[in-house]
Amino acid sequence: MKIAELFYSIQGEGSLVGVPSVFVRTSGCNLRCSWCDTPYTSWQPEGVEMDLKQIIDEVAAHPARHVVVTGGEPMIAPEIIPLTEQLRGLGLHITIETAGTVFQPVACDLMSISPKLSNSTPEGPWAAQHNRLRIRTDTLSRLIERYEYQLKFVIEKPEDLPEVRDLVANLQAPPECVVLMPEGTDAERLRERSLWLVEICKEEGFRFSPRLHVELWGNRRGV
Ligand code: SF4
Repeated sequence: MKIAELFYSIQGEGSLVGVPSVFVRTSGCNLRCSWCDTPYTSWQPEGVEMDLKQIIDEVAAHPARHVVVTGGEPMIAPEIIPLTEQLRGLGLHITIETAGTVFQPVACDLMSISPKLSNSTPEGPWAAQHNRLRIRTDTLSRLIERYEYQLKFVIEKPEDLPEVRDLVANLQAPPECVVLMPEGTDAERLRERSLWLVEICKEEGFRFSPRLHVELWGNRRGV
């Protein structure tokens, strides 16, 4: 399967923020978010072909107890099911980072689902497909029914909140499973947006998440 990057770092987002983890980033995505922070997996997918043994050997070479399978959209990667099963065989805690548009019966301990709000819609020829696919309520329901999960939303402006509230109510997800993160690829913008986003989280009972890897290292690959 095509792997954009494989590296050892700390989880930068969500309920496991700060946990040392190996990241396996698949290349290829069915969406095209305007603010995508990994365009080398979506708009211009890059990477190298690796077989399962190569991936597993490289993951096992690091001392982590957690692995994060991310993308792109890992749920469309061929062999995603055997990959997760073999990672489980290593005894690792598995997080899958997905937009929640595709269901696969993967091995997973935390389904980290990031449904894409309308603030992600690009201009141009991809807009129609992106809008048609970005929220699949049936798929989201299957994922949250089957797995431990978090619903992670990228927030650009306070006006994004009604969309979050509607979807959360529709899925009957408890607020403690909902995580809001500021959109931004530099520390200054993240800080500015975090200040009002924290207040929204206090009002709504949602969890706030920093984007620690961006704060620490900026918008770089391999972190
Ligand atoms: S779903 Fe993720 S990888 Fe795909 S375009 Fe959106 S932000 Fe990028």
